[in-house]
Amino acid sequence: MPQADALALYQQKRNFAITPEPAEGGEPGKDAPRFVIQKHWATRLHYDLRLELDGTMKSWAVPKGPSFDPADKRMAVQVEDHPISYNTFEGEIPPDQYGAGRVIVWDKGYWMPVGDAAEGYRNGKLKFELHGHKLHGHWTLVRMHGRGNAKQPAWLLIKEHDAHERPAAEFNVVEALPDSVKALPDIAPSEPLAAARVARASPEKTSHDLLAAAEAPLPDKLAPQLATLVAAPPANTRDWLFELKFDGYRVLARIEEGDVRLFTRNGNDWTARMPALVEALKTLPVRSGWLDGEILVLDES
Ligand code: MN
Repeated sequence: MPQADALALYQQKRNFAITPEPAEGGEPGKDAPRFVIQKHWATRLHYDLRLELDGTMKSWAVPKGPSFDPADKRMAVQVEDHPISYNTFEGEIPPDQYGAGRVIVWDKGYWMPVGDAAEGYRNGKLKFELHGHKLHGHWTLVRMHGRGNAKQPAWLLIKEHDAHERPAAEFNVVEALPDSVKALPDIAPSEPLAAARVARASPEKTSHDLLAAAEAPLPDKLAPQLATLVAAPPANTRDWLFELKFDGYRVLARIEEGDVRLFTRNGNDWTARMPALVEALKTLPVRSGWLDGEILVLDES
């Protein structure tokens, strides 16, 4: 629950008889805390980043908006907590009212703190993962010393290095994706993601700890992992990776101490059929293991 006075400043600044903004309310995210970024054409255009924490939306005004380039450190001025119900607000704040101007929901989704969110927030270093329609991957908010003032501390919003980073020269997300996402579906964590979150919270128990794996001899045969036919694509497309389906020969390679053998998905030995591939696989820095792949030749198109 929010602290009793958490929204006091938000409410003092607004006249709810005039502005269409909500005075209070909103449901906390069911499976994960929500995030929203609102594009706000106030006196100056800015992007309001809001993270659900402790029953309200902690809020930062980011004049330039987010950037996927870790070299861009974007000023983020902390402003008053907003009610969770603000997440769906789009509209026109009337002239002469606080924040007068148009507001759209520029991105929305859920966020996952890395480490303890309350502690990170308190200490001025909040690390988190965003799962939105536009923003993804790891980000950090870090409070600057001696900048801003007690009521509006200055922070920096920084993209962390990961698979989602992109150089600013190649991709400017606020220019490339300027529009509202309000009509798009809400993004909820899939079960695997919720499980991953638990795994991260207790790293000594993660299931991908190779050092904890039991030793076993290299299997002589291995069945390839096959796709399962389903009626429709998954609802949470952001939680899935999609790959182009190539139509070639499914081949598994068994490598053991310099010996390479190729097998079809039915276990037929095709080593003699693809000698060039065998020679190439011999040069891999792999002592033993199985590789699973699709063998094909791409043409010009
Ligand atoms: Mn604003």
